[in-house]
Amino acid sequence: MIIGITGGIGSGKSTIAKELAYRGFGIYNCDKRAKEIIAEESIVQFRIKRLLGKKAYKDNHYNIPYVSKRVFAEPELLQALNELIHPWVYKDLQDIKIFRDSRGATDKLFVESAVFKESGLDKLCDKIVIVDAPVETRIRRVLDRDYYGKNSALNIERIRARMNAQKDSLTDLHCPTIRVTNDGSLEIKDIVDQILSQL
Ligand code: ATP
Repeated sequence: MIIGITGGIGSGKSTIAKELAYRGFGIYNCDKRAKEIIAEESIVQFRIKRLLGKKAYKDNHYNIPYVSKRVFAEPELLQALNELIHPWVYKDLQDIKIFRDSRGATDKLFVESAVFKESGLDKLCDKIVIVDAPVETRIRRVLDRDYYGKNSALNIERIRARMNAQKDSLTDLHCPTIRVTNDGSLEIKDIVDQILSQL
């Protein structure tokens, strides 16, 4: 069974995925996998340079500060970049699903991503868990989380812009969904119990 975990920025997807990993479940992290593909696949590198210019890679490494600045300023570039990478992640997970099906795998694999609909990954999932939390709670969490980190440029304006860009991602998914609320009233382990009891 392949189960998606999604939700807007700061909803707590990664925190829930961490608890699932702690309990021994397999986690496929789409952002992480996309970064590996961007680093490893020469065709992807070629296309990213064609889209964003040679500066998109610095000393053969993906130049995240440059790319972030460009795509934040031009949303159509972000869309083009996503459209370039999504099919690679889709193909990668599809191969895993084919392999699992051929082996008759019965264990649960959780797939974490903020964008199932746009990437088509919802078509590979049996169910998707949507994690939700109030907007102000999510903003506060992201500010707290990223204040000292490499994302310290993620100010309120950028968080709201990202929320706005994500707002249609959680509707009309191609598989059944389960909704859980991570607003602080329940511990993460209890939310995970709630999820597992519904699968
Ligand atoms: P993103 O889309 O930005 O990756 P996310 O949905 O994966 O966000 P997390 O990174 O899991 O969200 O959570 C955001 C921050 O909020 C983290 O620092 C996390 O530790 C914290 N957090 C998540 N859930 C809770 C909670 N129930 N109580 C307190 N802090 C929480």
